[in-house]
Amino acid sequence: MIYGFFGSIPGCPHQRGKQALRGNGKTLSMTVLAYQSYLSESKDAISNYQTEFSRTVPTEEIGELIIAEDIRDSVIMITEMQLYLNSLGVNTKRLHKFIGEVVAQSRKRDVDIFYDSQRYTDIHPRLRVQTDRAFLPRKFHLDDTPCSLDRCKKEHIIKLYQHDPFERNPIMLLRADIAGQLYDSNEIVICKKEGAKS
Ligand SMILES: [Zn+2]
Repeated sequence: MIYGFFGSIPGCPHQRGKQALRGNGKTLSMTVLAYQSYLSESKDAISNYQTEFSRTVPTEEIGELIIAEDIRDSVIMITEMQLYLNSLGVNTKRLHKFIGEVVAQSRKRDVDIFYDSQRYTDIHPRLRVQTDRAFLPRKFHLDDTPCSLDRCKKEHIIKLYQHDPFERNPIMLLRADIAGQLYDSNEIVICKKEGAKS
C-alpha cells in the first residue's frame, strides 16, 4: 500500500485556519505507521532520514532500488517526496517510470511505501491518485488548543486525520514526545537535482 502524509490539503474539511504547515507531525505520523508495518511482519525498513529501526539510504538510491529491483518484505519511507519528484523533472519519462514502479511495488502484499510532503498539490497527480491513504495530521497542545508554531516547546498531541478515504474523526492520537523517540526530527533532507554537481 501507499501512504501519504501532508502538511496541507486544500479543500479538505480537516484543513483549518492557522495550522502549522511545517512541523504539523507528518513525518512523525509517517514514522509511527511505518513502524507498525515494520513490526507486524518483521520487514526490512529503509528510509531517507534517520529512524531507530530503519536503514538510512540516500533518496536517489531508494529511487534506484524502487525502479530496478524486485522489492520484497519491505517498508520504504521517503520524507519530502516532492523534492525527489522535482529532481526527476517535469513529466519526464524518468518521473513516470519512478511513479509507475512505486505503484507496482506497493501492490505486493509485503511492500508498504510511506511518504510525506508539505503540500498535497506538490505531489504529481499520478502518484496522488494511487495513494491508498492520505493523511493530514494536526498538532494540538495537551489542553486541546491547536498549535500553529513550527518550533513550539510545549507538549503536543498529534491527531492523525484521514483525508482519503475520508474519516471524520482522527484515526489515531499520538503523543509527540513519545512517538518522536522513533526518529531524529532535526535532520534536513537534501535531494540533489538530477545532473546537478554535488
Ligand atoms: Zn505548540
